Amino acid sequence: MRRKVLIVEDEPDIAHLVQTHLTDIGCDADIAGNGAAAMKLFKQGSYDLVVLDLMLPDTDGLTLCRSMRATPDYVAILMLTAKTTELDRVVGLEMGADDYLAKPFSIPELLARIKALFRRMEALQSKGAESDTQELIRRGGLSIDVDKRSVRIDDRPVELTAKEFDLLLFFARHPGRVFSRIQLLDKVWGYNHDGYEHTVNSHINRLRSKIEVDPADPRYVLTVWGVGYKFSEEQA
Ligand code: CA
Repeated sequence: MRRKVLIVEDEPDIAHLVQTHLTDIGCDADIAGNGAAAMKLFKQGSYDLVVLDLMLPDTDGLTLCRSMRATPDYVAILMLTAKTTELDRVVGLEMGADDYLAKPFSIPELLARIKALFRRMEALQSKGAESDTQELIRRGGLSIDVDKRSVRIDDRPVELTAKEFDLLLFFARHPGRVFSRIQLLDKVWGYNHDGYEHTVNSHINRLRSKIEVDPADPRYVLTVWGVGYKFSEEQA
């Protein structure tokens, strides 16, 4: 299946380089050089992935990311940025980006990230196609509607970003099993580069703030000191 990608990037050299390589791996890639053009194309085409530059002439990638996430159809978002501070990484991921890559990046790394996002998408889509009956996971007061990608805690709906949902679903499917940060990156993000473990920590903190009554004393996602995290078997 040909994937449709929207490249939002105001530097023409980078935009065309990315477009060429995406075409090589069988994608149809459009380019938007600013935020207004990006939203216009985004509303017209049904894209599988948006490669989104953080710094744009008329707006910023975070605002765009939020607008794209506000639409009903799920689209994968890979954010590109020249900023490399921890804060920007965390903010980008919390705004709903699925992954993050700092400039300057190498083309092989960019393509590896994009392929990982596509693999996850395919896995989700084939799971959706297989199951006619809706899969509902219940763990204590937590209920996860897998197909609708919706979560309720004690019958109250909880808004999660795409990655927070993937992370919670992965944990809830494996109660009691301990996962290291690297294993979670591998299983949930689809890659396991060193140096991104903080991404896992920040997502778990965000997830806890949304699903736990007391995030400092969690019921669901527990810290296993020196090893990683696990989903409480008491809730299973
Ligand atoms: Ca830029």
